Amino acid sequence: MAQLSEKNSPNRPKPLEYTRNIGISAHIDAGKTTCSERILFYSGVVHKIGEVHEGTAVTDWMEQERERGITITSSAISCNWTTKEGPYAGIEQQINLIDTPGHVDFTAEVERSLRVLDGAVAVFCAVAGVQPQSETVWRQMNKYNVPRIAFINKMDRTGADFYGAVNDIKTKLNGNPHPLFLPIGAEDKFIGLIDLVKMKAFVYDEKDPMGIKFNEIDIPEEYREAAEKYRLELIEAVADFDDDIMVRFLDGDTSFTDDELRRGIRKATLSREFVGVIPGSAFKNKGVQMMMNAVVDYLPSPLDVPPIKAYAEGDEDVPSLEIVSDDFAAPAVLAFKLWSDPFVGKLVFIRVYSGVVKKGMQVYNPRTRKTERISRLLVLKADKRDDIDEAYSGSICAIIGAKDIATGDTLCDRDHELRLEPPTFPEPVIAMSIEPKSKADQEKLSLALARLSDEDPTFVVTTNQETGQTLIAGMGELHLEIIRDRLMREFKVEADAGKPQIAYRETITKPADGVGKFVRQSGGRGQYGHAEIKIEPLEKGKHYEFVNEIVGGVIPKEYIKPTEDGIKEAMLNGVVAGYPVVDVKVRLVFGSFHEVDSSEMAFKMAGIFAFKDAMKNAAPILLEPIMKVEVTTPDEYQGDIMGDINRRRGQIQGMETKGNLCNIRAFIPLETMFGYATDIRSLSSGRASYSMEPSHFEQVPANVLKQVQEGAAKRAQR
Ligand code: GDP
Repeated sequence: MAQLSEKNSPNRPKPLEYTRNIGISAHIDAGKTTCSERILFYSGVVHKIGEVHEGTAVTDWMEQERERGITITSSAISCNWTTKEGPYAGIEQQINLIDTPGHVDFTAEVERSLRVLDGAVAVFCAVAGVQPQSETVWRQMNKYNVPRIAFINKMDRTGADFYGAVNDIKTKLNGNPHPLFLPIGAEDKFIGLIDLVKMKAFVYDEKDPMGIKFNEIDIPEEYREAAEKYRLELIEAVADFDDDIMVRFLDGDTSFTDDELRRGIRKATLSREFVGVIPGSAFKNKGVQMMMNAVVDYLPSPLDVPPIKAYAEGDEDVPSLEIVSDDFAAPAVLAFKLWSDPFVGKLVFIRVYSGVVKKGMQVYNPRTRKTERISRLLVLKADKRDDIDEAYSGSICAIIGAKDIATGDTLCDRDHELRLEPPTFPEPVIAMSIEPKSKADQEKLSLALARLSDEDPTFVVTTNQETGQTLIAGMGELHLEIIRDRLMREFKVEADAGKPQIAYRETITKPADGVGKFVRQSGGRGQYGHAEIKIEPLEKGKHYEFVNEIVGGVIPKEYIKPTEDGIKEAMLNGVVAGYPVVDVKVRLVFGSFHEVDSSEMAFKMAGIFAFKDAMKNAAPILLEPIMKVEVTTPDEYQGDIMGDINRRRGQIQGMETKGNLCNIRAFIPLETMFGYATDIRSLSSGRASYSMEPSHFEQVPANVLKQVQEGAAKRAQR
């Protein structure tokens, strides 16, 4: 291997070049967990394979995950892998594996893991091809610029179609997929893979069910032609990204050495415009080692990714810093996940973007303006936790001992203050009321909810000021169900939950001014707070921005934060129907105070009043969550299903027919989707299926607004 970068500290256990932070992501049930398990097995982290369907998989930590057989939380696990050939041959690499969930209810997990990883393996099911949620994850990966390879899993299943899945990646995901290997056989005759770089076939040994050994043989005659054809296509695709290969290819030269081709594939993959595809069956232990080799050979090290943006102290809208992996730079660390571990307590998962984090060190959190001590540093290896003394740039590990860190916080050096761009999270779409069963549970419940919402930014807890009711909101019914489960199991809180309801949002459509005065000056100690604000619509998804434009101390410094707290509190219950207000920029422009009577409390009230006043004048509207729905139905029911979608205020986006199956895509308001599972069954005699996921928020039509407002008024009376 070429010379190592000077950004490596001589003390680090593995150079940056030999580190891969990767995620495995896919549609639920495509086989992520099984793939992760196999990776841990082949790399020697675990010696026995845990099967998902038996509920013993090590990456599935939470009890609920084991029970449900799905992966909810992204755990970060480290393992080592050494390739036998290729540019990294014989050099042990560290692979940090970030398991990401495939269920759309857990998009926050997907988002935050994509934010901290450098490359990904997108797992698809060879039978189902590209499924709606794989589309979502793919789009998220595009957003975070994640280079990836694709693993077409379940080649052993009846109906497995490798080329169909590759084609799906092209047509449905707009990707540029190219097989790196071809499958030999399919379904129960899937026996091995053909390596298009080496032009050799690997056939698994029936006597070795773990697939540790395989025989390297010449490509069987019947696959020769296909292998030649796909190799040529691969070279042609790679040539677009590698000048040397291009020049020779144009001269008709295709005699590239294995490593020349591998280097080309690496370049192509790192460009993010090329996706190498590998067939396999994680369950039957086939193809996983080839995928691991490809992770090392083609996915980026922390040095291969573009610098990430960070805000220096004083930056407002545009981040001015660029952070690259460098052990000698000031620390820039992102806390991307909080986790309560039953054995060691509260863990904060971090990605060290630059610098070195040491055990016992003090780190500064610009959000809280506090310093925290890192009492322990851990690396997780399946269910083992190893203490380490130092974490170098590019690494992912967990810290213990932090008191006040929330998901998305930056940790840095007090003298080199910076804020990394936090991941962005979608708005929750579904809510339910929650009530403690007894007085004793009351306090435990608020504490537990606060902890859970610290951990999970798409889980939002609000109290309706009019009714005093606590509302929990999340990304779907399953999400909230899991939270309720955790309340009982981990926090031992007994609580009743109401029926799921729509998490409406409110926003404003034009700028407006607002005045808030809280003045009580008759008898006893007075109260005096006065704040004036200007509000304006903010770009969708930006939630909230606050700018303090007070000059000349008309509101003393110590009352600015209480005023903002009041504004934030008012935003929890908007003026349209009492729903949270989003995407508003607030500027605090004027106010006044009284030497004796002013207090934090009075300014908080002034903030609340100012916001309510301004919002009334800002043409406020109610927003509802719109779901992206995909229905697959035999074509004889197509008409009925489309008619039904129209009645649900849905908008059909497209329709494709494959054989006698019809695929309908539509946007439908979540409000009309309760009970859809039952309805679609009766519409299609049980033969249609559907999936849905939150897409965006839209203004509700007038008749719905009226209903929602009436409902809100009724709740307030109760
Ligand atoms: P995840 O939801 O993507 O994590 O998927 P899992 O790894 O939990 O797998 C879902 C189901 O598919 C489990 O029952 C697995 O045993 C099964 N499975 C995973 N990989 C394969 C495979 O390669 N072939 C077959 N036949 N089944 C598989």
